[in-house]
Amino acid sequence: MAEHHFQLVPVDPRFYPAPDAIDTAQAVVRALIPSAEEVHASCRPGIHFFDAGEGFEEPKCPFCDADTAPWWSDAMSDAWDGTHFNELRITTPCCGASTSLDQLRYPNGDRFGSFIIEAALADPAENPSSEQISQLQSILGCQLVAYWITR
Ligand SMILES: [Zn+2]
Repeated sequence: MAEHHFQLVPVDPRFYPAPDAIDTAQAVVRALIPSAEEVHASCRPGIHFFDAGEGFEEPKCPFCDADTAPWWSDAMSDAWDGTHFNELRITTPCCGASTSLDQLRYPNGDRFGSFIIEAALADPAENPSSEQISQLQSILGCQLVAYWITR
């Protein structure tokens, strides 16, 4: 059976919410998604890659639509400093655009971030409304991306 997880990640991959705000947001997510087996928040130094679950595909270049498969994993290795990602800025080999790894188009919705809230093993029918996401944005003090993944 497919397992669904709800994830909430700041748009800015370097953003850390305040500890009190994290506790409050976690409680709100728990109330919005009561089916979740577990709601946890993770806040770690440095930037991490949150894969969107099964069926990974390399991203596309947002400027010229090229497939990044020939260079993406090397660019990821260059940006990895052993425990986290440091510098996401890249120049795309396909079209020479100045951008960053988190700005590429990930077809499955993979994300970069320092902070994530996940409601694990939850029912996707309990999808928070855009008003509820706005409420979470004001609690955490940042713009958020909310999505479901399957693992
Ligand atoms: Zn390109």
